[in-house]
Amino acid sequence: MKILKFGGTSVGTPERMRGVAQLIRKDENQIIVLSAVSGTTNSLVEICTALQKKDQEEAIKVVQQLEKKYDKFVKELIDTGNHQDEALEMVGAYLNGVKSYAKREMTLFVERSILAQGELISTNIFLQYLKSIGQKPVMLSALDFMRTTDKGEPDQRFIAENLTFELSKYPNKNTFITQGYICRNAFGEIDNLKRGGSDYSASLIGSAINAQEIQIWTDIDGMHNNDPRVVDKTEPIKHLSFKEAAELAYFGAKILHPASIRPAEESSIPVWLKNTMKPESYGTLIHGDKSDAGFKAVAAKDGITAIKIRSGRMLMAYGFLRSVFEVFERYKTPIDMITTSEVAVSVTVDDTSNLEGIVQELEQYATVEVDKDQTIICVVGDFIENGKGYASTVFNALKNIPIRMISHGGSHNNISVLISSSAKKQALQDLNKGVFNL
Ligand code: ASP
Ligand code: MG
Repeated sequence: MKILKFGGTSVGTPERMRGVAQLIRKDENQIIVLSAVSGTTNSLVEICTALQKKDQEEAIKVVQQLEKKYDKFVKELIDTGNHQDEALEMVGAYLNGVKSYAKREMTLFVERSILAQGELISTNIFLQYLKSIGQKPVMLSALDFMRTTDKGEPDQRFIAENLTFELSKYPNKNTFITQGYICRNAFGEIDNLKRGGSDYSASLIGSAINAQEIQIWTDIDGMHNNDPRVVDKTEPIKHLSFKEAAELAYFGAKILHPASIRPAEESSIPVWLKNTMKPESYGTLIHGDKSDAGFKAVAAKDGITAIKIRSGRMLMAYGFLRSVFEVFERYKTPIDMITTSEVAVSVTVDDTSNLEGIVQELEQYATVEVDKDQTIICVVGDFIENGKGYASTVFNALKNIPIRMISHGGSHNNISVLISSSAKKQALQDLNKGVFNL
């Protein structure tokens, strides 16, 4: 069985949805996982925001815009007849559902139910389209098998058992469609895997049934070695190990949801990133523990704040770092990068919502300096043990850039530096030349 996940832009117009249908082979055993049509989840979020402000009129206005959009979408996609009628009726029903939610008191339950409609709509339209062109796929509702635990983590045992059960009902079928993103929580209520979570769904589904491979189809030809918005020449990376992909997914490499690597990695299922606009191009294949030695990509993450914590008490002492980390833990603020000297430690965070409280507590026993507008530049690759020259290549390339922090050795796969965001463009261009000769 293969898992094929198509993102919002891949199903974003009737034409694109037709393109997706052409990519599905009739003789393959497969589960097709779809996101909502691009823009829809954002509209559903708008509806929820309006309802939180008790602006029912605005909420209804957005629902009406969706009604119009989908009426046109379905009529353009599916020829007149039974399948078009069914698609229109079903979209109507889901959007009527949103409207009646809009009349109820806004609760977390209502919000999550509204957010779930995007994927329910896209999968049902696609189902009817495939039927209208003579195919006979089966719809599996993600709400029947996708589930999180009381800690909000995917309940992998439940998912495996129930997905296997759902599939067992159709021994003679080979093509299944299901929703990304949506799930039920431990109480059985409708919930979701957070924004961008459809990739995560695909990976969880793949892992649950030990799929042969997971394909993530988007509108770029895989992960690139650098940020195409910042540097002129970038290249898709052909092969990445799971570890390298995990390092990159955290950094702006928006193409893959960061959590989505883990289930596939745990079950050793290759993940293939492919481009719906250029299906013939290779894309990026993520597999295995190791890949070829050497540099694979650089990525940057903006909006980083560095905090330097300096204290005489740190000298030769133990327990100092624990007390520092406890402050961050109390404020539920993840730390990204860490560097230490004998008397000071610098850390970076990207969530500054509790910065003031954190700094106040740290100041009780240390001098604290905060630098905002920083960027982490991360160079990813397989820097094999006892390998030589990797760091010098990176720092040579960056010789004209002031560096605030350096981190290497946390894994074999990452050399990171922190720089002022104003130097980011130059740094990425210099690395493109110095590391990749591009
Ligand atoms: N539709 C959801 C979102 O826009 C999930 C996804 O597309 O992955 O965040
Ligand atoms: Mg996505």
